[in-house]
Amino acid sequence: MARIDLEHIRHAYGANPKSDADYALKEVHHTFADGGAYALLGPSGCGKTTLLNIISGLLTPSHGRLLFDGEDVTELSTRERNIAQVFQFPVIYDTMTVYDNLAFPLRNRGVPEAEVDRRVRETLVLIDLADWAKRKARGLTADQKQKISLGRGLVRHDVNAILFDEPLTVIDPHMKWVLRSQLKLLHKRFGHTMVYVTHDQTEALTFADTVVVMYEGEIVQIGTPDELFSRPSHTFVGYFIGSPGMNVLPVAVDGASAKLGETTIRLPAAPAASLSGKVELGIRPEFVAVGREGMKASIRKVEDIGRLKIVRATVEGHDVAAIVPEDGEIPADPRLAFRPEGINLYASSRRVAFAGEKGARP
Ligand code: ADP
Ligand code: MG
Repeated sequence: MARIDLEHIRHAYGANPKSDADYALKEVHHTFADGGAYALLGPSGCGKTTLLNIISGLLTPSHGRLLFDGEDVTELSTRERNIAQVFQFPVIYDTMTVYDNLAFPLRNRGVPEAEVDRRVRETLVLIDLADWAKRKARGLTADQKQKISLGRGLVRHDVNAILFDEPLTVIDPHMKWVLRSQLKLLHKRFGHTMVYVTHDQTEALTFADTVVVMYEGEIVQIGTPDELFSRPSHTFVGYFIGSPGMNVLPVAVDGASAKLGETTIRLPAAPAASLSGKVELGIRPEFVAVGREGMKASIRKVEDIGRLKIVRATVEGHDVAAIVPEDGEIPADPRLAFRPEGINLYASSRRVAFAGEKGARP
């Protein structure tokens, strides 16, 4: 197990990168703590696999250094880094049995056969393939093969870190849930540093203690699921996490009030810093109340989602979503109110703290 420091990592696939746009990773400077469970979350193409492959050594970054427990490993091979990596699609030996596929990484490292047997049996149970141990991998289904891949990543206990690149994509939804819970248990038991790549917020929020959100080759926020929900540090995090995502509205701010068109919205406080660029107010649908008080709104649609309803409204020409209880009454002349504790302010897409807020710069 190791602490992993990424020092000013940048990566371009093409030769002679000139501008930021030529970089798949623009600048990543971050530490993964020893024994942490992290999710790398972001849309397709944002650089998750690139970052993971740089950590594992499949890719050498164009700039920057990588340290494991303080030791520079930037030039070391995957094998020398002692990393286990599980890919999106199965990487297995078709002609070997399921058992031998799992035994291979251990035998390869000279682990005594009695220990190999113990580990393999334990892992077979974990991935629910104990009954298939003697079968050749060739004849198995795609999701069974992926479970073998996962098993090969989990069978060794001496690794510096285990990296997962969207490993459950081909697994059916129920088994997905089972395997994710197993991974979590395994993390608790062995305390490996784990980095789990996904584009699925549910997967990220249930697996990880810390979620690293990536967008266009950059890390835009690192936080607990709670922090990502209540204080998205970038409007992208607001949109991407939550269902529906955060409402983001263009406003003009004066002291502790914001104007959305002709409507004035009271802010929790004045912003702690001056605002430059595009100024926006962000509020999650969970903090928008529908009733007789507040801003004039017209309702476009109401969607039933079980115990809650999503109200799609228009305020000053902008779409605003609200989440209200199933039995919440919607008056004939509805108004929307933003609960102050749910209001965030953004300048050039980055969150600006309010005066007096914990962590706000004076
Ligand atoms: P993600 O895993 O988040 O979907 P990737 O790390 O695979 O994203 O890709 C990040 C960016 O780098 C994308 O724009 C992608 O097209 C580009 N890219 C990825 N792999 C290569 C490659 N081998 N050669 C050139 N460009 C690549
Ligand atoms: Mg990828």
